[in-house]
Amino acid sequence: MSSTVITNIASLVTNDPSLGGSALGLIQDAAVVIDGDRVVWTGESSKAPATDNRVDAGGRAVIPGFVDSHSHLVFAGDRTQEFNARMSGRGYSAGGIRTTVAATRAATDTELEAGLVRYLAEALRQGTTTLETKSGYGLTVEDEARALRIAAAHTDEVTYLGAHIVSPDYADDPAAYVALVTGEMLDACAPHARWVDVFCEKGAFDGDQARAILTAGRAKGLHPRIHANQLSYGPGVQLAVELDAASADHCTHLTDADVDALANSRTVATLLPGAEFSTRAEWPDARRLLDAGVTVALSTDCNPGSSFTSSVPFCIALAVRDMRMTPDEALWSATAGGAQALRRTDIGRLTPGAYADLAILDAPSHVHLAYRPGVPLVSEVWRRGRRVA
Ligand SMILES: [Zn+2]
Repeated sequence: MSSTVITNIASLVTNDPSLGGSALGLIQDAAVVIDGDRVVWTGESSKAPATDNRVDAGGRAVIPGFVDSHSHLVFAGDRTQEFNARMSGRGYSAGGIRTTVAATRAATDTELEAGLVRYLAEALRQGTTTLETKSGYGLTVEDEARALRIAAAHTDEVTYLGAHIVSPDYADDPAAYVALVTGEMLDACAPHARWVDVFCEKGAFDGDQARAILTAGRAKGLHPRIHANQLSYGPGVQLAVELDAASADHCTHLTDADVDALANSRTVATLLPGAEFSTRAEWPDARRLLDAGVTVALSTDCNPGSSFTSSVPFCIALAVRDMRMTPDEALWSATAGGAQALRRTDIGRLTPGAYADLAILDAPSHVHLAYRPGVPLVSEVWRRGRRVA
């Protein structure tokens, strides 16, 4: 294996808090040394060890690749009309998912895979080097299992979301659908997934159903995560903490008790401002969570219905402008926070031993991601030690 130094970095985000300063572990006039697929050294340019290859970053900033810990990318069809109607004044409810379910069931494997590959490439170009994705638009044993099979061919972070909504085929008998999700469907899906998820919300699954689904998943070796407290107050966050879920996602409507529970747990609060943007909904209160000591991650929730963006930089800009996160906090949440929401320590940071997953920005610092919203600042992406975009 050959070693490479990326040098002349104006500002390097390592996310190594032991370097002092902010949690970002910033190093000015820095270098990163990569050997194979890993980072082996970071520090000041002038102190970098000798390597086989040298890349000059030209005074640009380098950040860890984004870890997008929440997306729904195995789907077919389009919901442009629904978005258009919503932006013309109609509300959002969980039911729109059925439109995508019908289109996804009708699609071939090749069509589903081509869509996933396209969105993964789109995310990669914008700096995302790890992307979690879910099933949840099949809602039959065969369609959920094939979604996970397709996802698992392209990412390690695959989530079984048979409990996205009650399948329209079981509209009159939700209990029978929960039995399917925790029985035959789980058996078919567990081999292809790492995580189990449930949409705990009015119109989807209540607290008891969600507990049954996550507990059954856990018994099959899947680790829980949960769509919680997105559209209304509810039991999702408390359930996430009770079950030691890696993450409670959305967290838009929280009581003080919910915030306390998160602050006293290992469960990350993953905020998904693309969803609030695309549904014109109230923002999650990131400041309240951060001030209470909750670990916050920032992800896209990329899906065709409620947040059709694959851009983490866009979510960072929203979080800074509208959710009162500082640029440092937002960058941390979209990298190290996402890694923590996936219980990973080998990504989301640029420290010796971590994967060499990074983005070079066409800017002198990461602050420009929010300072220059909508501008394609990601100029190079490296994944596993290789330049990929
Ligand atoms: Zn989601």
